Amino acid sequence: MKKLLTTTVMAASLSALAMTGCSSTTSTGAVGVDRQQLLLVSNEQVLQLSAQSYAKTLQDAKARGLLDTNKAQLNRLKNISNRLVGQVGVYRPDAAKWPWEVHTIKSNELNAFVLPGGKIMFYSGIIDRLKLSDDEIAAIMGHEMSHALREHSRERLSRQYATQTGIGVAASIFGLSQGQAELANVAGDLGLSRPHSRTQEAEADQIGLELMARAGYNPQAAVTLWQKMQSASQGEPPQFLSTHPTSGNRIAQIQSLLPKVMPLYQKARR
Ligand SMILES: [Zn+2]
Repeated sequence: MKKLLTTTVMAASLSALAMTGCSSTTSTGAVGVDRQQLLLVSNEQVLQLSAQSYAKTLQDAKARGLLDTNKAQLNRLKNISNRLVGQVGVYRPDAAKWPWEVHTIKSNELNAFVLPGGKIMFYSGIIDRLKLSDDEIAAIMGHEMSHALREHSRERLSRQYATQTGIGVAASIFGLSQGQAELANVAGDLGLSRPHSRTQEAEADQIGLELMARAGYNPQAAVTLWQKMQSASQGEPPQFLSTHPTSGNRIAQIQSLLPKVMPLYQKARR
């Protein structure tokens, strides 16, 4: 029976591959991201898992009295998110209509994430302990939103599916098994616990810079943000860095992109 299911899943995977092949989730924008992506798992299935995972995170935080406790901070994040969402149409018009959401968790942790479909979460620790400016918050948020726009989690799940290593994951996604444990694993794969690849990180940096510039946030703040993140990692490494592996040349790459995005920022400020 198990063999049969596996064979069926793989056959479905191969036919999906034959039908869809590779594509790119976003337009290239000014920074020129145009890598082709393997997308076998449907976006609807990923979004359903994302919504469940986000709802559970909110529920848990609320039960512990840690959800959105600082209204001023929440409003600050919402304003920044609204301005960035106003620019996502440059990359993909459908994303302007996504049900984007922002919440905060009161926690000392240096962390933030966005789940597929635009479900944003900031830990108060990253804002308070790094004393982030609005521009620096926009740099994190723009980076995270870019992972969602590029559907990086869906891409990673598709790759596991195609290589058969994630057959259990594939089975959960395709409704063949509904175990809670597996749902938790899949939710982890959506971006909560697994690191992004270097290629995906570079893309999120590129698109994130353009988004913030177009929204009128100074892209130079992306440099100070990563500098702060680096100094913070002298002691215990921030959670954010474990899911967003950084390389020594990240800041240099961001600096090399500034001439492309600064004119967009200056235009937005006028
Ligand atoms: Zn990242």
